[in-house]
Order: sequence, then C-alpha cells, then structure tokens
Amino acid sequence: MERIAVFPGSFDPITKGHESVILRAVPLFDKIIIAIGTNSEKKSFFSLEQRLKWLQEVFAHEPKIIVMQYGGLTVDFCRTVNAKFLLRGLRTSADFEFERSIGQINKQLDPSIETVFFLTAPEHTALNSSIVRDIVRNGGDPSPFVPDAVAIKS
Ligand code: ADP
Repeated sequence: MERIAVFPGSFDPITKGHESVILRAVPLFDKIIIAIGTNSEKKSFFSLEQRLKWLQEVFAHEPKIIVMQYGGLTVDFCRTVNAKFLLRGLRTSADFEFERSIGQINKQLDPSIETVFFLTAPEHTALNSSIVRDIVRNGGDPSPFVPDAVAIKS
C-alpha cells in the first residue's frame, strides 16, 4: 500500500519553515499532498491561485509532492485521497498545545489516520507566515524568509 501523507495549511505564503519540514518528510512517504484548506473563516492575504502557484513552483522538482486545495474536514479530505498520515510542524510550546488538540480530535474523527509531527529546524523557530505578511504590508523585503521560487514584490 502506498504511504500517502497530507500536509494541510494556509501557506499564506509558504515560508522556508514549511519548505524545510516538507522536504524532510519526503524520504518517509511515497506521496505527499500539500493541501491548502479553503474552508477557514479567516480571509487569506494572498489569493488561493497565487498560493497554489507558489507551492507548485517550490516543489516542481520533487515528483513525490503534489499540491491540492480542499474544503471541509481535513480527515475527510485524507479519506478521499487515501492518505493515512497527516503532517504538521512544531515550533513552540504554543504550537504543541494547538496541534495536540487538533491531532487528538482528528484521531477521534478517524482513528486510522496518524498525525506525524516534525520539530522545526532551530533557524526557523521564529518564522511564520504572519510575520512575512507584515513585512510585505510594510514594504520590507521578505526574501530571506520565503523559498527562492516565491518572488514577492516589496
Ligand atoms: P495553519 O493556518 O493551519 O496553521 P500554516 O500554513 O500556518 O497553516 O502552517 C501549516 C503547518 O506548518 C503547521 O503545522 C505549522 O505549525 C507548520 N509551520 C508553520 N511555520 C513553520 C516553521 N517556521 N517551521 C516549522 N513548521 C512550521
């Protein structure tokens, strides 16, 4: 059976933190689906089309990775793509508390799906998409924080 994992998130925009975790997961799975969740109440800063395009460009050379969007429950999406693993990154204890609750609820919703956590690389601990958005909003240069394929005009 193929080992398929879903990495769900907003990727608004993708950062070097996301990129690093996803690349570290590649040897562990046959296929990784990076899935942009579109049912969240929060409005995104970058359009869905732009976020999909950046993800596709960043991972264009990685045949195991595909990029999709989904609505509804993450576990339902996992079922439709036959994924038995959910991937998430952990930076801080705040991430841990947040992820623990989502992970435990997802486990109750579908006990056949395991959430796998990756500790962030130390140099990416302070990095999140919201900081990148703030830099862009205020005319700064976000390029040190996003993958090379993500060209954001500042
Ligand atoms: P969400 O809106 O669901 O939190 P994000 O796109 O912000 O989606 O994040 C998706 C996943 O990536 C989360 O598990 C988050 O903890 C992880 N992540 C975000 N930034 C980093 C980083 N700098 N290092 C490691 N993991 C990260």
